[in-house]
Amino acid sequence: MTVPFIGNEATRGRLRTLVQSGRLHPCLLFEGAVGLGKASTAVWLAKVANCDHSDLEQRPCEQCWSCRQIPKGCHPDVLMVGLDPSKTAGIISVAQSRALIGQLMVKPFHAGSRFVIFDPADAMTTEAANAMLKTFEDPPEATHFILVTAAPASLPLTVRSRSQRIRFSPVGIPELRAWLETQGKPDALRMAQLAEGCPGRALNLQPGENGGMMVARDALLDALHGDVAVQFKFAETLCRGDRSKWSVAVDDTLDALGGLLRDALAVRVGGVAFYNGDIPDVVSDWARRLDPTAVATMVDALSTARDRLASFVSGRLVVDSLLAVVVRTLSAGDKHEAI
Ligand SMILES: [Zn+2]
Repeated sequence: MTVPFIGNEATRGRLRTLVQSGRLHPCLLFEGAVGLGKASTAVWLAKVANCDHSDLEQRPCEQCWSCRQIPKGCHPDVLMVGLDPSKTAGIISVAQSRALIGQLMVKPFHAGSRFVIFDPADAMTTEAANAMLKTFEDPPEATHFILVTAAPASLPLTVRSRSQRIRFSPVGIPELRAWLETQGKPDALRMAQLAEGCPGRALNLQPGENGGMMVARDALLDALHGDVAVQFKFAETLCRGDRSKWSVAVDDTLDALGGLLRDALAVRVGGVAFYNGDIPDVVSDWARRLDPTAVATMVDALSTARDRLASFVSGRLVVDSLLAVVVRTLSAGDKHEAI
């Protein structure tokens, strides 16, 4: 996903200065939520460092050979390390680390800076990370590593401690809204809020609607009204077939649950439902049942579910255990209210 450069300008400005003054740390950790432009910034930085334009401020020019080859992954000095295609587990393997170390023994092809971009860096296995440690600490000349991650805590401490952490922040809602409007997107405010300030996520949402999430929400609510057998069936149907087929529907379901929780909290403190204004009865019911501690329990469960999905745990297992927490927490709230 190529995320446009909205927000985090100061971060990019600092990185540009560091490249131009030759003071860029050899191992950078780009951290922040998905859709903030971390990977796009890594590619941009490699272009800034390798661009041929005579005016430093005009780099990247987007015209020279390096600027054209880098985004295509065809520049010999800008190496992208993603998930190992020979593994089903979604990892960056020790075999990839060893191959990379071998590649780095050869001098850079061009005179410029060599960049190695790990994305997602948190997919590195412990063995893969251990194999890289010495190289991260003492890289070959003019070589920089960029570790891109939305889950920095999943990286070994030994890697984190050798890196300079660069944090990417969500874009302000008014700024993202204004940008979406310049792109001709209707309902820009709602999109900006749903995407929680992440431009990449905003672009992935369908403009003017959020069909996938609404369908997912209604199916989720139906399942929650049923008994355990209905909920098992829901998880089974949701996660049928190939991971690539169901992962979007599962993400929509988790987003829908997140929206319900946010609205329940908002209504509880006298605000209005933002995401689920069309089902006020359900939102008030959730608001009545869920005190802030109960919401926190569900938000934790939601975040665990996302982590487990990112670690390629079976979708059905993840959805089953998440539903169990939701049902338990909602019915505990109901009993509490009755007392
Ligand atoms: Zn250029």
